[in-house]
Amino acid sequence: MIYLDNNATTQVAPEVFEAMQPFLTSLYGNPSSAHKFGRDMRDAVEDARGQVAGLLGAKNASEIVFTSCGSESDNWAIGGFLEQNPSRRHIITTRVEHEAVRKLCEHLAEIGCQVTWLEVDQAGAMDLDDLRKALRRDTGIVSIMLANNETGVLFPIKEIGRVIREHSDAIFHVDGVQAVGKIPINLSEWPVDLFSISGHKFHAPKGVGALYVRDGVTLPPFIIGGGQEQGRRAGTEAVPNIVALGRASQLAKEFDNHDQIRALRDRLEQGIIAAIPDAKINGSTDKKQRLPNTANIAFENFLGTEIVKKLDEVGICVSTGSACNSDSLEPSAVLNAMNIPKCAGVGSVRFSLSRYNTAAEIDKTLRIIPEVIENLRDKRCATIG
Ligand code: PLP
Repeated sequence: MIYLDNNATTQVAPEVFEAMQPFLTSLYGNPSSAHKFGRDMRDAVEDARGQVAGLLGAKNASEIVFTSCGSESDNWAIGGFLEQNPSRRHIITTRVEHEAVRKLCEHLAEIGCQVTWLEVDQAGAMDLDDLRKALRRDTGIVSIMLANNETGVLFPIKEIGRVIREHSDAIFHVDGVQAVGKIPINLSEWPVDLFSISGHKFHAPKGVGALYVRDGVTLPPFIIGGGQEQGRRAGTEAVPNIVALGRASQLAKEFDNHDQIRALRDRLEQGIIAAIPDAKINGSTDKKQRLPNTANIAFENFLGTEIVKKLDEVGICVSTGSACNSDSLEPSAVLNAMNIPKCAGVGSVRFSLSRYNTAAEIDKTLRIIPEVIENLRDKRCATIG
């Protein structure tokens, strides 16, 4: 099997599994307990907090709060801020956010908040002037992703943060879920207040994430109950998962072979473009403006769902975009927002690599894709209308 769907989720690194295993067996204490067994768990949680802070370049480990996933971090950041600041109910976000932000903002608009949706161009990029114009006195929070999950397009977070700081006192939340472990992050130097991450996107297991909350920024607790996480998120800590997130963060910080992933991604992209006449890359053609691991390719007039199915039959796992709408025949909301024509949008396929992919896998994929496309030639466009 060749797994090229790492933006959906990643394999747990063996080192991460090894680190968490004792906490699933012999080390089962509750971090809130007063005895040594509990204290050891507390120490493990705090070590992990330090490792996550190290990866994100946070000034203090106390700025990291563990959550269950990226969606929770996003919901807590935006929903929590608005709950605490009811008079500042204007939100700014983009049209290409993950559902965890986009659908939350749609819901907030339904219950009385005002949302300004920033447009993106065909390359997936936003215009800083649009942001400048959108900022208002009652703007409470701006939420913009660091890297798009479907196209890998990167947003200029430092510049965006600077514009927000210069023109308003709005809080800046960044959904960093797809970027962590793939590009360097330095939150102590970036003008960012809240930053969401998710473990399963960078070789930790599913079920753990974190929200960076800059010192001085307050949020009401997302879960009310015990005093865990300094009263910011109740519920007994998922110690094995938290230890795993810490170890994955440490591995990601040490990993220095992003160029190899980038080279494999480029080889895949160039190989497909050379072999398939109408194939085009979705997102910026400037590769520095995209994550090093992601290629989103439009096979114009084909159906992405059919390509995914055929590749699956021969053991190659890819995706049509966001995992959540993989059965849809409509182009994804992200590609629609980029004004990608429908016949290209529905024919788009996302390939996303990790440090575990090899050149042999990419070469095999490049051998198979032209055959798959050739076999689907008769089915072209019939269902697109
Ligand atoms: N934000 C982005 C950009 C994502 O890609 C995802 C997952 O695909 C999420 C948030 C949600 O993360 P989780 O699956 O941990 O809830």
